[in-house]
Amino acid sequence: MPLSMRALILERPGSPPTLSVSEVPDPEPGPGEALVQVAACGFCHHDLLVMKGVLRRGVKPRVILGHEVSGTVRRVGDGVATVRAGDRVIALLTNACGGCDRCRQGREHRCRHGEGIGHGRDGGFAEQIVVSEFSLVPVPDSLDLATAALFACPIGVALQAVEQAAQVRPGETVVVTGAGGGLGVHAVQLAGALGARVLAVTSSPAKAARLAELGAAAVLETGPLDFSEIVLAFTEDQGADVIIDTVGSALFPSTWRSLAQYGRWVLLGEVAGGPVELDPAEVIFRDARILGSSGVSRALVQQVAEMVSWGPAKPVAGRTLPLEEAAAAAELLAQRGVLGRVLLVPP
Ligand SMILES: [Zn+2]
Ligand SMILES: [Zn+2]
Repeated sequence: MPLSMRALILERPGSPPTLSVSEVPDPEPGPGEALVQVAACGFCHHDLLVMKGVLRRGVKPRVILGHEVSGTVRRVGDGVATVRAGDRVIALLTNACGGCDRCRQGREHRCRHGEGIGHGRDGGFAEQIVVSEFSLVPVPDSLDLATAALFACPIGVALQAVEQAAQVRPGETVVVTGAGGGLGVHAVQLAGALGARVLAVTSSPAKAARLAELGAAAVLETGPLDFSEIVLAFTEDQGADVIIDTVGSALFPSTWRSLAQYGRWVLLGEVAGGPVELDPAEVIFRDARILGSSGVSRALVQQVAEMVSWGPAKPVAGRTLPLEEAAAAAELLAQRGVLGRVLLVPP
C-alpha cells in the first residue's frame, strides 16, 4: 500500500494557473467514508473556471480539482454499510451526509452539509479520493469504468435539464447550444432519445458529422451568420419549443430569438460569465419560461447508468490524457478542440 499518491494541485489560480503534479499523503477514510482508487476523472468547464480564478467562492486552498470521478473502492472507514472494497463506483458531485432532510428526500446534491467534490474538498485529479459512502453510486459490471466518470456530470446534469427542467416531449423541436461540448453532446442524445427533433448549434464544423450520428437532425454553425435565422427556417418561423443552453451570454440574443411562443429556455452553462440585456415585455408576450438547472440527484445518475446500459445514451470522451497533461487538457477545453469530454487518468 503506497503511503503517498500523485495528485494535481491547484497551487494558484490565474491565467495561466500554477499547477503541480505532486506526491501528497494518501487520503484516509474517516467514519462513514470510502477510499476510492480513481479510474478516470472528466475535465469540466467548472474546473477551468476555478483554475482561472473566475470561480473562487468556497474553493479549498491548494484544492485537487475534478468532480467527474469513477473508480474502485479500496477501503472503507468505520460504520460504512452501503459499499465495500472492490465495488466499482462513481461519485456524485457533492459529498453528501446522507442524514439531512434533503439527502433523505433524494436531493443529495443539495445536502445541507454538502461540500463540492473538487471544489470545497479534494476531487478526482489524483490517484485516490475519499468521499462519504452516500456520495457513491454503483457502476454495473457490463459498463466501461473510465467513461462512467461522466454519468453524473455532464450526462446526469444534461438529463436533469432535458427531462426534468425542460420536460421535452416527443415531436418537439429542441435547440442545443454548445452541442459539441460535454453537456451539449449528451443533451443532443438525450433530447433525441425523448423523441425530439434536435437542432445542434456548434462553433466547430468539424464536429458536425459526429453530432448527426448522435441524433442531431441538423447541425447549425455559429459564426458570422445568426443561427436563429436557420432555427426559424427549420420551424416555419415558429422557433424552437425548447432551448438547452450550455453557452449562455456569449450567444445571446441569437438564442433568445430562436425561442417559440410558450417556449422553455433552460440555462445550464455560462461560459463567458457576462450579463445580457433582456426586455421583460418580450418574456411576457412570448409566454416564455426561463429556467435554470444545475447538479444532479442520485436517482438520475442511476437512470443514466440504465440508459447507457440499454443504449440511448453514450458517454462521449473525445480524448483521454494522463494526469500530468492537465494543462494540455485545459487548453483543449478552452479551444473547444474535443468532442464531448477530456478524461484525465492517474498514473
Ligand atoms: Zn462537470
Ligand atoms: Zn445531507
